[in-house]
Amino acid sequence: MDKEIFVTRSSMPDYVEYIEAIKPLWETHWLTNMGAYHKQLESQLKKYLKVPDISLTVNGHMALELAIQAFGFPRDAEVITTPFTFISTTHAIVRNGLTPVFCDVKPYDGTIDETKIENLITEKTAAIIPVHVYGHVCNIEEIQKIAEKYNIKVIYDAAHAFGVEYGSKGIGAYGDASVFSFHATKVFNTVEGGAVTFSDHKIYEKLYNLKNFGIRGEELVTEVGANAKMNEFCAVMGLCNLKHIHNSMQKRKRAAEHYIRRFSEMEGIMTFRGNDKATKNYAYFPILITDIYKSSRDEIYKKLKEHGIHARKYFFPVTSDQACFKNKYRYIEIPCARSLAEQVLTLPLYEELSDEDVDKIVDLF
Ligand SMILES: *Cc1c(COP(=O)(O)O)cnc(C)c1O
Repeated sequence: MDKEIFVTRSSMPDYVEYIEAIKPLWETHWLTNMGAYHKQLESQLKKYLKVPDISLTVNGHMALELAIQAFGFPRDAEVITTPFTFISTTHAIVRNGLTPVFCDVKPYDGTIDETKIENLITEKTAAIIPVHVYGHVCNIEEIQKIAEKYNIKVIYDAAHAFGVEYGSKGIGAYGDASVFSFHATKVFNTVEGGAVTFSDHKIYEKLYNLKNFGIRGEELVTEVGANAKMNEFCAVMGLCNLKHIHNSMQKRKRAAEHYIRRFSEMEGIMTFRGNDKATKNYAYFPILITDIYKSSRDEIYKKLKEHGIHARKYFFPVTSDQACFKNKYRYIEIPCARSLAEQVLTLPLYEELSDEDVDKIVDLF
């Protein structure tokens, strides 16, 4: 068997760098509960992400659940969202007792089709939860206009969009809140971790309660909160990885550009262009294997697998078709989301992926 290549490989600092960085924990024995490293990472990420305010969490999913909960939507409210995403987005809505309303996406970037949102609004609509899928920026201006017109909230799932800038601001500075994931498989990781970014400082206090049992004093609990704090070992991992993030993204960029060069001559294989007004973070390398290509997406997927290359069908099936959600919610036509889900294949992309690795993968097409 050839060397196996997985869809991603977690970025890690040097062993010695991390060990040196966690040494002080053996002096303080302060391992979690908003310790010194938690605070440091919050302040460094606020700068790096160019956001007004940030709250760290144990993972991206809890960040999403708590961000939604923070706004206190009525129990039977509807949330307009995309089915072309990781299951976490839909789970976070449903686990908050809210009803997902699935809006179609745009064929050229996979983000929610803003022209189809307004038709889905009812008197129960409380929020829009779009996803900057693959780091592609949603149509922020149009979504904001709709939100203002109907007085509803916008919470972006920015799990794929770490470090992306749009206009002069960080991507997390838009909407009422944005949610990031620092999972091991993401472009920036704290092993497990996540964050909510927002501009209204009241949200910080609300999230603080929700992530720490609502404890506000030794004998005072003001709210029914969960436990979703980031621990100090993860915060240190984040501080170390953040030092190398620029370098890491440059290496991903090199590999991504090599893929693009190789695929540019292949008829029927499409790569995504991205938005001119946004920076790229090279988090993923999705391609579309269209109907005019000589083999189907599933044939390519299988062939790669036989050669030890583990591409992934991100995102197939659409979340609304998953066993736990199928036929449960309002039926809405989502032809573009379905077509993308049928054609997409996410190829390996990580900082150590060499041009030779890319050639080996593309040669199998
Ligand atoms: C990874 C991811 C999440 C969940 O983040 P975790 O840190 O894994 O909990 C949510 N939404 C999207 C789109 C993701 O890719």
